[in-house]
Amino acid sequence: MKHHYDTIVIGAGIAGCSTAYFLKQKNQKVLLVDKNGIASGGSGAAGAFFSPKVGINLPIKQLSDEAFLFAHDLYKKHFNGHFFQSGILRIPKDAKDAQKFEIYRRYITLKHEIYTPQMLKELGIQSDFEAILFPQAGICNPSICEQMAQGIELDLSDIKELYQENGFWICGKHSAKNIVLATGYETDLLDIRYMSIKGIWGNRGDFKTDLKLDFSMHKNISISANFDGVIKIGATHELDVEEAIPCDDKSVTGLLEKASSLIDSSDFELIGTHCGMRASNRDYMPVVGKIIDVEYMLQNSPNILDGRKYPLKYIPNIYVHNALGARGFVFALYCANELANHIATDKAIDARLDPDRLFYNWIRKAKYI
Ligand SMILES: Cc1cc2nc3c(=O)[nH]c(=O)nc-3n(C[C@H](O)[C@H](O)[C@H](O)COP(=O)(O)OP(=O)(O)OC[C@H]3O[C@@H](n4cnc5c(N)ncnc54)[C@H](O)[C@@H]3O)c2cc1C
Repeated sequence: MKHHYDTIVIGAGIAGCSTAYFLKQKNQKVLLVDKNGIASGGSGAAGAFFSPKVGINLPIKQLSDEAFLFAHDLYKKHFNGHFFQSGILRIPKDAKDAQKFEIYRRYITLKHEIYTPQMLKELGIQSDFEAILFPQAGICNPSICEQMAQGIELDLSDIKELYQENGFWICGKHSAKNIVLATGYETDLLDIRYMSIKGIWGNRGDFKTDLKLDFSMHKNISISANFDGVIKIGATHELDVEEAIPCDDKSVTGLLEKASSLIDSSDFELIGTHCGMRASNRDYMPVVGKIIDVEYMLQNSPNILDGRKYPLKYIPNIYVHNALGARGFVFALYCANELANHIATDKAIDARLDPDRLFYNWIRKAKYI
């Protein structure tokens, strides 16, 4: 039997679960759909470090700081058993990076403290350079996605097509007024090539150890504090791949080697390996909002490929929440709240997230594609 919803969210990673969470708060009848279950994609593989961006004052850093504070508040208030505020030390990779950190410090707006190499040594961390501690940062357990999805119906289906009938979307066995695509690196349900979303592969190893480590840290890899005798080490690599690379224990050897230059990993025993893909786009900003009807634009805008601009036509009542990059657990809640407000109350979405910004850049090159 077909069930009808206000909104169906496809993809139950941190993007989909947080969107469903905010929509439910707005009294929407919501269905979450995922082919493999909650946090089965990149969100389950993630070390899920909740870590601020360090850098110069670019729009991405400003957005990241705002999203960090927004999510921090909610994680502390409503998701305490799934968020651990261990603090995160940001450690420069090398002397050149340390020089950059000197500059970056001017732009830090979040609470922070400087740790000298001697202070780090007392914590059991080897570094020739000063590090920056962000005490509000920490680790999310991917179980936070399940907590967000509590009380929301879940359908375990692999959606192969979407179409509209009498003004409603048909999605597998169900129908809805609105659809949200939160499918991570898999983007073949609609033509959204203009958003240039690509998958980047990464892995994480979980190690049993007695090492006392109170802070989490990030250098060229991320290392968690010791929670209940387990330290997680993770990284996503700059590797564009079409499909996720299978996971094996060998793939985390490199991570452990890198960790060994920072901390004493001599008693580390591998107890779990996780691999997955994260989705990023060209400008590293999330994409949240309406979806342009690319086919219509190409067919009905005679000189669009020569650079002429036309009013944009959108596919009705379908939205995207994607390209959260290496900071899914920082960006998702802010983005989800913006999108849920828009769907439920028609409030405009933060313009910085608007995928439209990518359309004319893409169309300029489209005639060569
Ligand atoms: C190894 C690794 C380490 C990472 N570390 C961190 C970190 O420390 N901190 C951080 O903030 N971020 C980290 N990230 C990035 C973070 O994981 C991503 O930003 C985040 O997972 C994106 O969430 P998402 O919901 O957009 O995508 P995903 O979690 O990938 O969710 C997409 C979901 O859509 C489902 N789906 C796709 N197509 C369909 C379909 N047709 N029908 C039904 N279901 C479908 C998939 O099954 C999947 O569950 C890491 C990523 C990886 C891979």
